[in-house]
Amino acid sequence: MVKKILVTGAGGFIGHHLVSFLKERGYWVRGVDIKLPEYAESLADEFELLDLRRWDSCLQATRGVEEVYNLAADMGGIGYITAYLADIARNNSLINTHMLESSRLNDVARFFYSSSACIYPSYLQEDADVAPLKESDAYPADPEEGYGWEKLYMEKLCQYYSHDYGLETRVARFHNVYGPLGTYDGGKEKAPAAICRKIALAKDGEELEIWGDGQQTRSFMYIDDCVEGIYKITKSDHCEPLNLGMNVMVTVDELVDLISEIAGKSLVKRHDTSKPQGVRGRNSDNSKLEGLLNWSPEYSLADGLSITYSWIESELKKTERTPSY
Ligand code: NAD
Repeated sequence: MVKKILVTGAGGFIGHHLVSFLKERGYWVRGVDIKLPEYAESLADEFELLDLRRWDSCLQATRGVEEVYNLAADMGGIGYITAYLADIARNNSLINTHMLESSRLNDVARFFYSSSACIYPSYLQEDADVAPLKESDAYPADPEEGYGWEKLYMEKLCQYYSHDYGLETRVARFHNVYGPLGTYDGGKEKAPAAICRKIALAKDGEELEIWGDGQQTRSFMYIDDCVEGIYKITKSDHCEPLNLGMNVMVTVDELVDLISEIAGKSLVKRHDTSKPQGVRGRNSDNSKLEGLLNWSPEYSLADGLSITYSWIESELKKTERTPSY
């Protein structure tokens, strides 16, 4: 019998790619989201538009499936998650508590939860030249306000459902995922997509606004690596949270230089230090991931960004927003 899988957040960036990945492997997939995917049709066998903050919607979404990949969340880039603490914490708490309990009642065998590097304590991320974050660094807790606290608590709730009810839960802490079919404007976009958009819209030689002083550091994981990692983690026997990210750290200025090179443009950076920049430095320690799965993300930043830039540029061209030379 073909295994039936539910992907929540299937109208969003990672969920949409995960549905395609699972369909390619022959699974029957139900996608659920509050909205349809924006840029390409879903390959899901069934797509239901549901608000997963509602208990009845979660019961409906989880009926008759063996596995749940729970990716639905109210989230966005640093500007968004630092502005809406109450809404994000409330919306995501409702989604995740209802999704866990409805999965239990509907006899779901395995539940994947998408956590985030935002659960790591800010006191370990104060320098640009930061030590890569290990899973055990999560405590003593001091995560990102709102979004990070909610994620950290939901990791615990997954653990409690395993302990009390034997629900097999798997948890990945994503570190900055990017790629085609991700939001690139409107306020919820993240740094790689925002910078690709700004560069695509700029004329050669123009000024480019960059949030922060450009020296803050991050690592970035390409979407194909992310969905493969999600699948491998869910299949594994490991029920504790695992980092899922790239372990190559760059400054935001280096990210901008790389995308400018891909675009073939020479731009003048203007740093706006009044804008939110998040923690000063963040990188993923992948030793546990590599040790347990014998696998790690492989796309180089240059390769992943080339694909992503081309996609964002072509989207902007469709709406005739790119400059004519
Ligand atoms: P996304 O915003 O593209 O997708 C999330 C989806 O959840 C959206 O389509 C949204 O409509 C849906 N959603 C929100 N509220 C809902 C509701 N009430 N009912 C039903 N659906 C609802 O984000 P993404 O980048 O695809 O992120 C997927 C998951 O990964 C999220 O849990 C996010 O917190 C986590 N994550 C992502 C990153 C990243 O770099 N993209 C990093 C860390 C963690």
